[in-house]
Amino acid sequence: MFSGKVAVVTGSTSGIGLGIATALARQGADIVLNGFGDAAEIERIRTNLETEFGVRVAHDGADLSRGEAVRGMIAHAVATMGRIDILVNNAGIQHTASIEEFPIEKWDAIIALNLSAVFHATAAALPHMKQQGAGRIINIASVHGLVGSVNKSAYVAAKHGVVGFTKVIALENAGTGITANAICPGWVRTALVEQQITALAEHEGTDQETAARALLAEKQPSLQFVTPEQLGEVVVFLASDAAAQITGTALPVDGGWTAR
Ligand code: NAD
Repeated sequence: MFSGKVAVVTGSTSGIGLGIATALARQGADIVLNGFGDAAEIERIRTNLETEFGVRVAHDGADLSRGEAVRGMIAHAVATMGRIDILVNNAGIQHTASIEEFPIEKWDAIIALNLSAVFHATAAALPHMKQQGAGRIINIASVHGLVGSVNKSAYVAAKHGVVGFTKVIALENAGTGITANAICPGWVRTALVEQQITALAEHEGTDQETAARALLAEKQPSLQFVTPEQLGEVVVFLASDAAAQITGTALPVDGGWTAR
């Protein structure tokens, strides 16, 4: 479906981003991976995608908490891969604490990566997409872009910001062939959530699986985790021609979290 197209997926060395990069590669897109991790493991991911799907795959280890690094990553992707058709802003971090106890540096780090990086990457990608007369910008927000939760002030502020920013991208580019949408996942069992399960298990004096069930029971009526593979297929759909008139939306993929 995406043969000859180039997708940049931020934060794709693990979790949801890796699921998205894999789904796009399966559909024939060349991929720019981004994110941190063990160099040998990243190289294994890169070559596996290349051999399994017969696409070009590069890795850019840019630290996206710095605006100029975000813009540099997009410029480098276009220079080396030739174009940019799909931008998936996925990289994100979490920290939990009450507002009074929230460390200032954690607030700044979450806003920088979860919100400002989305602005910088979009601003850098748009001129290329406009020149091509087509493009897809898909922002991985969260249910926390739609509703709040205690102890997640920076994350909820950033994700609501992403949902709002997505609407403005959509409006400024309506009719140009460029669409922008946000995906709002509920609980997905990645490293980001495993930390929260561990914290809950320690707090409640239970084991990891009991804590995981409790986490779901509190928020996600399906009592099932969303998977990175499912989110990958949602991105494939939003990047497809069928979704050409879907723009400015925030799509919950949350097992019913925001339905109640
Ligand atoms: P994860 O921790 O598994 O992956 C995060 C990725 O971002 C990794 O590749 C990591 O290396 C990269 N990263 C971290 N800091 C970076 C930086 N400064 N520059 C570049 N890359 C950086 O987390 P995940 O759960 O896969 O989260 C991916 C996105 O999905 C995040 O935006 C998160 O907020 C969102 N999300 C996650 C869940 C969930 O339940 N896991 C739910 C809703 C939304």
